[in-house]
Amino acid sequence: MSGGGGGGGGGGDFEERSVGALRVRIDRTLCVGFGDCITEAPEAFVLDESGTAVFVKPDAVERERLLRACDACPVDAITVWNETGTQIVPGACEQVP
Ligand code: SF4
Repeated sequence: MSGGGGGGGGGGDFEERSVGALRVRIDRTLCVGFGDCITEAPEAFVLDESGTAVFVKPDAVERERLLRACDACPVDAITVWNETGTQIVPGACEQVP
């Protein structure tokens, strides 16, 4: 707490939503506001006044496009888990053996 106008607690600054069977988390400390996620899914994400992504209506976006939007983040600030708790974003496109 520093009297500025920040979000929640110290340390991490996460926003998390359940979207259908998916769980989506924005790591606001990693987000640098490029807006790639917003380009893919403007219904789901928006930049707040500090230039950091927050949720709007992620459930208004079809699953495939939501995943694409999350995967578009260049700094992997968005993580998605599926219904079984498996992390599916980031992942698919750059597989580390
Ligand atoms: S794509 Fe990533 S870095 Fe860019 S606004 Fe979205 S969450 Fe932030």
